[in-house]
Amino acid sequence: MQATATHGSAMATMDVRNLVNGRFTERQGAALDVIDPAAQVRVGSCPDSTAREVAEAVDAAHRASTAWARTPVADRAAALRRLADRIEADLDLFARTEAIDTGKPIALARTVDMPRAISNFRFFADLAEEAGGPLAPHALHGAGFTSAIARRPLGVAACIAPWNLPLYLLTWKLAPALAAGCTVVGKPSEVTPLTAHLLAERALDCGFPAGALNIVHGRGPVAGQALVTDPRVACITFTGGTATGEAIARAAAPRFVRMALELGGKNAAIVLADACTPDRIGATADGLMRALFSNQGQVCHCAERVLVERSGMDALVEALSSRIAALRIGDPLDESTQFGSLISASHRGKVESAIAAARAEGAQVICGGTRPDAASLPERVRAGAFLRPTLMTGLPAGCRTDQEEIFGPVATIAPFDTDNEAIARANSTRFGLSATVWSCDCTRAARIADALVCGTVWINGWMARDLRAPIGGVRASGLGREGGSEALHFFAEPHVVVTPDAG
Ligand code: NDP
Repeated sequence: MQATATHGSAMATMDVRNLVNGRFTERQGAALDVIDPAAQVRVGSCPDSTAREVAEAVDAAHRASTAWARTPVADRAAALRRLADRIEADLDLFARTEAIDTGKPIALARTVDMPRAISNFRFFADLAEEAGGPLAPHALHGAGFTSAIARRPLGVAACIAPWNLPLYLLTWKLAPALAAGCTVVGKPSEVTPLTAHLLAERALDCGFPAGALNIVHGRGPVAGQALVTDPRVACITFTGGTATGEAIARAAAPRFVRMALELGGKNAAIVLADACTPDRIGATADGLMRALFSNQGQVCHCAERVLVERSGMDALVEALSSRIAALRIGDPLDESTQFGSLISASHRGKVESAIAAARAEGAQVICGGTRPDAASLPERVRAGAFLRPTLMTGLPAGCRTDQEEIFGPVATIAPFDTDNEAIARANSTRFGLSATVWSCDCTRAARIADALVCGTVWINGWMARDLRAPIGGVRASGLGREGGSEALHFFAEPHVVVTPDAG
């Protein structure tokens, strides 16, 4: 970090560098500004990496791949645990930096993003080492021969992460790749490179050999594209928008590269009338508020469509409206802030356009829909990319607003009359990432959950995650699964040797 602080920023500016072959490199191309979206000030710079810089990182990863694959899994796991410890030791710095880089409330960064980054490393260290676990060799016996099955690391893994949960999602890819014995080239979003740089600094003395863990920064269409088209990259794990996922799939398909694509969603929350009774409505609305507006609605699993059984509609609208009005919108660095800034002014512009398009389709805005009054915000963040949480109704089934992902604090609410109608409407987009169902009637909720076409359904909750469970989407929400053994298997190719039984 440089010693000088940019005026108005809450931290010294950070000079982000690529980590290649065990050292930070000098920039070969231009630098990109890193902006604190809440304060709208420059907080650092990151390399606008060229294709050549990316190739150097892939080269380092490629050269290190045989040795890392042969490193005993216990040693690989130990390196991951050391890195987890280093993040934990500096948790406050990591959380503060993530809040500055993304505009998310610091309390969220401290209690969700950073603990999860730490557990990603510890979880995959444990799972990789598990006797009889996903990476353990095993044999099948039968019909006079034995099939011995080993899992061999694929080689160089490209790990590309988005800006909404920068360290959380980057480490969700790096940890299983490294645990499985792949070397990696990570590519964070150029919008949010800061915590990846903090991670890279700490990784230097954790026991990763030079080239095992490389991180390159830069723009998707340049650095990202160079990474996914490099012939030495053996697998690609990508989280981001559906259009980007499609471009990556197209670019990498001719080489038959293994791919996991975690893409967008248009997730439904189905609320049954029994979840809206006076004794239940509080818990339902509290849970829904998280599902709708956590991280300013910028989580791929956020619900953007609430479908409520007609007799519960009024109670739910009232309960959500009062909670939205009470949300503390403010400086992400204030511990009491519950709702921060969107990722950038330009993203806020896109979300505002979606609200305008919804109005044009006939939406009535129940609450939100506008920027908060600047005077209501602390001085440091008056120019920030804030937008009030927005709830809209009055749209017909099949409207465009309910088809396209907005990826911001905007949701629609509509009544339904039968379970089949709710299911059909929930399934009526091209996406299939996740959904939530809210009811005390376990049988009915389970029947609805079973009929939903998506990767994960949460009943009476949202984002409860057992890291052993697979997570991912179907249809335009992606390809493949992350989590647990699925993730370790993704990075390792089965290799089978068949021998006749003696005698
Ligand atoms: P993008 O798709 O724009 O970017 C994701 C990552 O891909 C970034 O690192 C980006 O770099 C990079 N990238 C962009 N273009 C290319 C390319 N041609 N080749 C290789 N890499 C490229 O998504 P956002 O960052 O805007 O994230 C928001 C999206 O992510 C939403 O649609 C959301 O639903 C989805 N998402 C999905 C999740 C899931 O698990 N299914 C979880 C979280 C988010 P750069 O930003 O530097 O251009």
